[in-house]
Amino acid sequence: MEMPEMNPSNKFKFIDDEIAGRRKNFCYRELKEVEPVSGVVVRVDGNEMINFSSNDYLGLSCHPLLQERALEFMHRFGAGSASSRLVCGSITCFSETEKKLAALKKTESALILNSGFQANMTLLPAITDRKSLILSDRLNHNSLIQGALLSRCRVLRFRHNDLGHLTELLDANRHEAFSRIVIVTESVFSMDGDRSDIDALSDIAADYNAILVVDEAHATGVLGPGGMGLCCGKDVDIVMGTFGKGCGSFGAYVACSEKIRDYLVNKCTGLIYSTALPPSVIGEIDAALELVPSMEDERRDLADKAENVRRVLAEYGYDTGMSTTQIIPVITGRSDRTLELSMLLEKNGMLASAIRPPTVPEGASRIRIALSVLHDDYHLDRLLGLLRDNKTV
Ligand SMILES: *Cc1c(COP(=O)(O)O)cnc(C)c1O
Repeated sequence: MEMPEMNPSNKFKFIDDEIAGRRKNFCYRELKEVEPVSGVVVRVDGNEMINFSSNDYLGLSCHPLLQERALEFMHRFGAGSASSRLVCGSITCFSETEKKLAALKKTESALILNSGFQANMTLLPAITDRKSLILSDRLNHNSLIQGALLSRCRVLRFRHNDLGHLTELLDANRHEAFSRIVIVTESVFSMDGDRSDIDALSDIAADYNAILVVDEAHATGVLGPGGMGLCCGKDVDIVMGTFGKGCGSFGAYVACSEKIRDYLVNKCTGLIYSTALPPSVIGEIDAALELVPSMEDERRDLADKAENVRRVLAEYGYDTGMSTTQIIPVITGRSDRTLELSMLLEKNGMLASAIRPPTVPEGASRIRIALSVLHDDYHLDRLLGLLRDNKTV
């Protein structure tokens, strides 16, 4: 038998192949250097650009209160947190902020985790065993997909937001001896900007005695009572979200019953085996939680802007899918068209992410426009004007 060639010059051939394949399919990604200028304006290679790709929906990342409180907490509690909260103790500012959050989310308790990605990766394995069944929306975020894979149990995907399909799958698996069933979805989908029906989902979860897990990454700060998400006040077992988007900071949370929180402290590897967030970040989160509930005017303004952008884009003949939020996809279908449009925007001083497979299904490439309260009429006119004059998709 011939040995596969293993000389140093070809052991990285898989990298060359992958990169060549991605370039050919217009799916090659690169890091772009940007310098924040103010709010929604960034500088790229010396040129100021309007940013339509940030998730800082309320403009909180540059709010002075977040910055001040970061410094205050750093001075009071230190620059780093030195260990996992289970090893050398949980610094008091964590549980105080968790209590504030639970009150706002109307849940018994809350648990802060290091990032949304880490939360989702380790939450699903914590609440399942090999004999469980996970039912996951087809468009769930990669972190939820990774978490489901890591659970090593049966995972079935239901068609996006298709609760008929979800119940079909539940019925079809009714007589199997699963240890438990977990339904996992998002309240606002990151690439489509559409919402799920939380009431209907919690009814289904109750009917089938399933645990309902909802990711509120893109709703936190932006939607629901006091900006506390679409699950706020509803019957959802485990709600997670991130502070890195609408809250302008970093980190993530799980809002749940006290029992589930206690369980996660024992079972969630992302909490147990990772150094806790630095106190400065907890300071930012604390400040964001102080500001967000009263930002009702900003939320209304953001919703009005989004509604207007969708209406104008529809007039110009663009497909914005099922969006009803501040996330508006401009669906072009082909990857090369998406890249062309994204480059055209860039040439004209605007940044909007080109989203291509594998992030979205083949043929569903799009420009993802993420609106912020800091986008003014000038910014939006520039965007809509360019899209009007270049309608070729
Ligand atoms: C961004 C995102 C995450 C990850 O959150 P981070 O705090 O950025 O790691 C999880 N779920 C969804 C739906 C997201 O969009």
